[in-house]
Amino acid sequence: MQLKSLESAELKGKKIVVRFDFNVPLSKTDPKTITDASRIDMAIPTIRLLLEKGASKITMISHLGRPDGKVDPQYSLEPVAVYLAKKLGTDVILSESAVDNGVKNLLQLPETKLVLLENIRFLPGEEKNDTELAEKLAQYGDIYVNDAFGAAHRKHASTHAINAFFKNRAYPGLLMKKEIECLGALLEKPAKPFVAVIGGAKVSDKIKTIEKMLVLVDTLLIGGAMAYPFLKAKGIEVGKSLCSEEDVSLAKQLLLADRGGKIQLPKDHLTSLEFGGAPLPCDGTSIPPEQMGLDIGPVTIKSYGDHLKTAKTIFWNGPMGLFENENFSRGTMSVAHAIAETEAFSVVGGGDSVAAVQQSGEADKFSHVSSGGGASLEYIERGQLPGVEALKFGV
Ligand code: AMP
Repeated sequence: MQLKSLESAELKGKKIVVRFDFNVPLSKTDPKTITDASRIDMAIPTIRLLLEKGASKITMISHLGRPDGKVDPQYSLEPVAVYLAKKLGTDVILSESAVDNGVKNLLQLPETKLVLLENIRFLPGEEKNDTELAEKLAQYGDIYVNDAFGAAHRKHASTHAINAFFKNRAYPGLLMKKEIECLGALLEKPAKPFVAVIGGAKVSDKIKTIEKMLVLVDTLLIGGAMAYPFLKAKGIEVGKSLCSEEDVSLAKQLLLADRGGKIQLPKDHLTSLEFGGAPLPCDGTSIPPEQMGLDIGPVTIKSYGDHLKTAKTIFWNGPMGLFENENFSRGTMSVAHAIAETEAFSVVGGGDSVAAVQQSGEADKFSHVSSGGGASLEYIERGQLPGVEALKFGV
């Protein structure tokens, strides 16, 4: 899909309103401490580009957490403002509210350069895609940039309605553009063989992604708790493993739809008598009644690795087991290492799998590590996102 280029936009002396996704995790014991600043780091190239191209003012918008339209100090963007100022080596002024009069006054001061508006989700209009709120935000600038890929699957005032006030003056940020290009490459003529690895907790959460993958890929490797409903649907015992009846019936439908025999399921497992308990090897495909599957076993690790070796395109979403527990992380780490060793165009999407890739130390060997969990899956399912569509056509 063709998106306008921010690099070739005329920005000298312009006031820019830019939506980022600074929804970073904060420490539970100290809510002023950011535990993973990757999302802010990924926005830095866009901010630097705006500064380099001579923008006079940059007003940044973001959400943090789910304050549900009310002011809630634990979700203040203050730690983000502090981090940004340090990283950029310049002042970043945090406004008291996203739409108080002070912001306009602030933007009139010659020394003001970078303003971060306080959490946009403190205002009820944001999640309602409210036009009045969008219009107020639009008054802060001549040009709108959306770099919040992680929020582009939402129709909110600062990602969607706001575009109406910037016809032909709305651009994707650098991160947004890279996300759309890399995820788009999976959908449009991917190099074959295309192998997808889908894991995680539930079939029902990812049914649309799996359906889409069945069309796109040559081989679909299933792991994680996601695998047990598929095994059960084939009449294989899964013991006490996570496996809902709803997921078994969805898995049955997917197996029926898989006429090309693309779906591969685990051949062995690592189990335990209880959730997170001592690991037990389970050589066969079926799991004894008193055990629960918590990771894929060594035969499956080898087989999935062999499939990945042949791939020219790879998409991965969802861990192969309870990877947060070291005893059950081997399957997930092996997939990360196997992908890192290939020359394939490789994309990983989704919060937990991104965390796993980072844990594996292989992140820089992936072609693209997506910043958006829900957004990346929705883009793959639909080939479009409301926030991106609005950016292109206005609303
Ligand atoms: P998702 O958000 O759907 O990708 O699911 C990720 C979560 O699924 C992680 O917290 C994993 O620990 C969990 N998970 C993966 N495999 C298993 C399993 N075999 N049993 C229980 N939880 C699992």
